[in-house]
Amino acid sequence: MRYFPIFVDTRCASVLVVGGGTKAASKLRLLLKTEAQIEVIAPEILPEIAAWSGAGRLRWTSRSAVTSDVVGRRLVYVAAESSIDTVELAAAARAVGALVNVVDDREASDILTPAIVDRDPVVVAIGTEGTAPSLARGIKANLEAALSPRLGTLARIAAKNRRLVTPSGLRRFFGGAGERALVEAGDANAERALLEETETCGAAIGRVALVGAGPGDPELLTLKARKRLDQANVVLYDRLVAPAILEFARREARLIDVGKTPSGPAWSQADINAAMIEAARGGGLVVRLKSGDPLVFGRADEEIDALEAAGIAYEIVPGISAAFAAAAAGGFSLTKRGRNRTISFLTAHDTEGFAEHDWRALARPGEAFAIYMGVRGARFAQGRLLIHGASSDTPVSVIENASRPNQKIASGTLGRLANLLKDNGIAGPAIIFVGLAPRAALAALDETAEAKLRIGA
Ligand code: SAH
Repeated sequence: MRYFPIFVDTRCASVLVVGGGTKAASKLRLLLKTEAQIEVIAPEILPEIAAWSGAGRLRWTSRSAVTSDVVGRRLVYVAAESSIDTVELAAAARAVGALVNVVDDREASDILTPAIVDRDPVVVAIGTEGTAPSLARGIKANLEAALSPRLGTLARIAAKNRRLVTPSGLRRFFGGAGERALVEAGDANAERALLEETETCGAAIGRVALVGAGPGDPELLTLKARKRLDQANVVLYDRLVAPAILEFARREARLIDVGKTPSGPAWSQADINAAMIEAARGGGLVVRLKSGDPLVFGRADEEIDALEAAGIAYEIVPGISAAFAAAAAGGFSLTKRGRNRTISFLTAHDTEGFAEHDWRALARPGEAFAIYMGVRGARFAQGRLLIHGASSDTPVSVIENASRPNQKIASGTLGRLANLLKDNGIAGPAIIFVGLAPRAALAALDETAEAKLRIGA
C-alpha cells in the first residue's frame, strides 16, 4: 500500500482550488460537502462554480494563482486548465505544509482523492491508487446500493446515545431495527428503538442512569427522569428521595434504599458502587436516583469511576438542585445586579466532619452562598464567618424541605443563625442562604441591613 487512507479535519481549514473548469468543479463538488473554507483562484470560472460563489459557499478570486496564494492552506488542489506552472505551485504548497493534489498528475501529488460513498458522518473512501477508476466506480455503486440512505441519521442517533448502548443492541439497531423505526415514525422513534434493542438483549450487561430526583415535589422531576424511572429494572435511591417520586418506578422494578443517614447505620459508598454494578450486570436499566441534581454534593464521580472501571455504560440525567427550589420558595433570585454577581454552593460537611472554606472571602460584604448539609454545622459556619469579619446583620434565610408539603422558611441575621434554626425547630434537609433573604423578610429588615446587601453601598 503506497497511499495510506486518512480523514482530514476540515473544520476551520482553508482549502485552495486553483482553476475554474470542469476538473476544478468535480473536486469542488466533493469539497463542498465539508466544513472547509474554500477559495477558488482562476481568471474565469464555470457558471456552476459562479453559482456556488454567489451562494456564499466558496470565495472566488478572479486572477491567475501565484505561489504566495498557498500560504495558510491545509489542502491545495491544482486543477488549472491553462498553462500555469503547476510544479512550482505544488512545491510552494508543500513548502508551507499543505497537502497537494494536482489533478490528473499522480506523481506531482501528495494525496489522491478517493471515490466516496457519503452517509455523513459515515464515509467510505475507495482508492485504487489510480490503477482502475472504473473498478472504484463499480465498488462505489455496490456500496451505494448496500448502505441505507438513512445510515448517517442512524449513526448520529447511535453517537448521541453512545454511553447507553450495548454492542449487541447496536448491532440489532444497525441490522434493521433502526431503519424500520426511522421509516415508520422518524428520529425520535429510532432513538427509542435503539434503547429498546439494548434493553431486550437478555445476556447483555445493563446500563446505569444517574438520575436527579429534584428537591421533592414530583412535579419538579424532569420528563427524562420520569422516563428512566418508568424503564428501570432496579432503582437504587437515596434517603432524601421523596416517596412520591418512587411511585413513578414500574411495579416490577426492584427498589433498593441505599440511603446514608447523617448518623447511624449506613451504606458505604463502596457498598453502593458494588450494588449498582451487580444490578447492572444483571441486565436492563439501573437507575441510581439521587435527590436534587446528581452532580451536586452527590459523590457522583466515585460512582462514575466505578462504572467506568467495570465497563458499564451510563448516562447522567440532571435534576433541580435543592438551592434552586429553596430560592424559588423564598421568592428571591440567586443573583442580582448590584447585589451579588456570583453565588456559591458549599457544604458544611464533608467526609472528615465540618468542612473548611475560605471563610475570609465568604465573609466579605456582598457575598452570597447556599450551604448544603448545613443544619448540624450551622453554629460552626456562623462562628467562622463572624471571626473572619462578616457582619452579624448579614441576612440569612433557611429553607427546610423546599418544594415539599412541609416546607418551612425562616429568616434572620447571621448573628442569630443557630438560634434561628433552634427556634424554628429546623432539623433538615435544609438550605441555608447567607447574604440572601426572602422578599418579605428583606422588606422588614431595617435600612442599614438592607444597604449591606448592596455591593459598595
Ligand atoms: N444532590 C442534592 C444535594 C445532596 S446533599 C441536590 O442537588 O440538591 C443533601 C443536602 O441537600 C441536604 O442536607 C440539604 O442541604 C439539601 N437538600 C436536599 N433536598 C432538600 C430540600 N427539599 N430542601 C432543602 N434542602 C434540601
